[in-house]
Amino acid sequence: MNQAFIRYFRCPEKLVKLEPLSNEIQAKRGYFKFGPDITCYGQSAVSIEGLTAPLPDALNLSPLDGDVCRLPFNPSEVADNLRFERYENRIEFSRWKRAIRASYYALRPAFPVAFRRHLQRYWLKDWQKRTFPHWPVDRSVDQMFEKIMHLTIQSQAGLEVPFIWFWPEGRSGCAIMTHDVESAAGLQFVSRLMDMNDSFSIKSSFQLIPNARYLVTPQILDLIRARGFEVNVHDLKHDGQLYESYDKFKQSAKEINAFVDQFKSGGFRSGALYRNQDWYGEFQFAYDMSVPNVAHLDPQRGGCCTVMPYFIGNILEIPVTMTQDHTLFNVLENYSLDLWQEQMNLIMKQHGLISFIIHPDYIQTRRSQDTYIQLLSHLSETREQKGLWIALPGEVNTWWRQRDNMQIIWKHGGWTIEGAGSERATIAYAAIKNNTLSYRIA
Ligand SMILES: [Zn+2]
Repeated sequence: MNQAFIRYFRCPEKLVKLEPLSNEIQAKRGYFKFGPDITCYGQSAVSIEGLTAPLPDALNLSPLDGDVCRLPFNPSEVADNLRFERYENRIEFSRWKRAIRASYYALRPAFPVAFRRHLQRYWLKDWQKRTFPHWPVDRSVDQMFEKIMHLTIQSQAGLEVPFIWFWPEGRSGCAIMTHDVESAAGLQFVSRLMDMNDSFSIKSSFQLIPNARYLVTPQILDLIRARGFEVNVHDLKHDGQLYESYDKFKQSAKEINAFVDQFKSGGFRSGALYRNQDWYGEFQFAYDMSVPNVAHLDPQRGGCCTVMPYFIGNILEIPVTMTQDHTLFNVLENYSLDLWQEQMNLIMKQHGLISFIIHPDYIQTRRSQDTYIQLLSHLSETREQKGLWIALPGEVNTWWRQRDNMQIIWKHGGWTIEGAGSERATIAYAAIKNNTLSYRIA
């Protein structure tokens, strides 16, 4: 019951006492609220099936009992359901949609770009009616844990709760810039894109398709790495078929694992963010970047409802939290920074991870390139003014694993952090001020 909460905050175990509200957790999963703004999905005393009716609020049933906080649901189960998208009914995998998708990918090369955009927009037409996950950023998992931290502090008579701060050197949040290379034209643009990023001192990662569309030579891998950028594997054939059947997927996963070795990469991203997190046991790389935060505008709906990295077994998921470039330009027909800034503000409020996918294939026009340069400039300003950590995905993976293994212990009359990488870690304190949760970095 306590496990996911402790892993999220990395706070001392003995300060957290969550217990189930006796006999109240029912077998049926469903939606409920936990406070007015937080949507949860799982087994609880109040869960209901759909999202159409007003949701009952489990917070009304969460009494404090001495130093114990009794919850009418299991927060570890709810976090898993949201992160692993178990609330989504997987309509995308229904047979007819599968057939449409297969024929779309078969015919795609023959479709003019304008017609493809038209199809995309038709596919996405009802997206604004979707109330969950929350657009343009969903923080349900993070907000649920914050609410439980609030209750925990109350149960400790208002004492501050120490925890290992989310990012190294007390940075306020984290950002990664990533580029999926979709075609030979995109590959040709890689050097130019590295120049653009370098002019703002921003290093990024390139995801290369190993087995289709263009040839990945050792020279390309060396060229990217020699300049301090990162290489990851992007899908296998990028034909939208990776998750079609478990047997075929198992074989593809083996090939993907081999390409990750061959590229000397640590990470992976699937084509078009198709995913099935229940199958990730077949993968052997360290980190994945295929799960969107809120996927209303992606071919596969859903979203992991968190702005923090999380583990899927041994794999670290570094979720995609920002709207992709082609979605912004072609679906929303917007070339301003407004949406990206709004998303960044929401994520910074949560001290979370800002993660971009910008395609070298789609920023070759003057207009899109101007927008991208403005974005780089905004990111670099946020780094200077607000202490944002701009890192490579591989660095995020290293840090998040180290933090996960660190211990926060009471020693010589104070809290201290031990473990590999702890010299970069900072103790933070969660407290309640004016009835709101606030953090203080030591
Ligand atoms: Zn792609």
